Amino acid sequence: MPRIAYVNGRYVPHGEASVHVEDRGFQFADGVYEVVTVVGGKLADEEGHLARLGRSLGELQIPWPVKPAVLKVIMREVVRRNGAQNALLYIQVNRGVAPRDFRFPANPRPSLVLTCRRTKFQTARQLAEGVPCVTVPDIRWLRRDIKSVALLAQVLAKQKAVEAGAFEAWQVDPDGTVTEGSSSNAWIVTADGVLVTRPASNLILNGITRQSILRLAGELGIPFEERPFTVEEAYAAREAFISSASTFALPVTRLDGRSIGDGTPGPLCRKLRQAYMEYVGSPDPVGAA
Ligand code: PMP
Repeated sequence: MPRIAYVNGRYVPHGEASVHVEDRGFQFADGVYEVVTVVGGKLADEEGHLARLGRSLGELQIPWPVKPAVLKVIMREVVRRNGAQNALLYIQVNRGVAPRDFRFPANPRPSLVLTCRRTKFQTARQLAEGVPCVTVPDIRWLRRDIKSVALLAQVLAKQKAVEAGAFEAWQVDPDGTVTEGSSSNAWIVTADGVLVTRPASNLILNGITRQSILRLAGELGIPFEERPFTVEEAYAAREAFISSASTFALPVTRLDGRSIGDGTPGPLCRKLRQAYMEYVGSPDPVGAA
């Protein structure tokens, strides 16, 4: 089945999908995005992602390109045209095409682009063994709560992880606390079994998966705290994991080369991942988990 993208009102073959050279997403990274996962044909956490898209747009004073209800129709149509059962649905909205000028254009016509990529998410081995992470300095701007397409710092962080043979990079602020992964939120479980993740603020992206996991932890009676934690605390944690639309909850078993806990995936991460899949309404797409 050929890949199909959506670009400003048209469904086009993925290989031919393109934007104008003066698109402000291309010129200034003047736009925002969302990634919604399709799991077993179902859109996971769709309402949360649309709500955050609206918030990001509002913070940047970019109008909705189409009404949210219309966007939902387009999202489903892109998934349908790609025959996607397990996939990543990417949505970008930016301030549109205008002569290159830092100032906002007077009458913006926002660009809307959707792409869909089929994926198997993680491998069964990554889930069974957990993944390694490394820490890197957080060199980003101070509006990390906006899901901006300006991702250069995250690109550099992820590349550092890849070069170190790791799956993800945990970014660290100058005070020694972990902010979040390059494309995920960071979690630990303390020696006395308390789930810890950084509170939502301008310093992190408030992950939609993060919010769902916190809610599920509450429902399951798992004690949790939203507070910053240090790299040292993470080294000494019983468990660590990351969350995002594409990794759900994925165990981290090594950080900067040190084993976390006993070096194997922990029970809380497993429990929360399972609860998240039940909430989405599809079996875990990875392996036999
Ligand atoms: N933090 C950052 C910096 C991210 O890029 C992402 C993934 N988009 C997340 C957290 C996780 O967010 P979500 O659960 O909404 O995918």
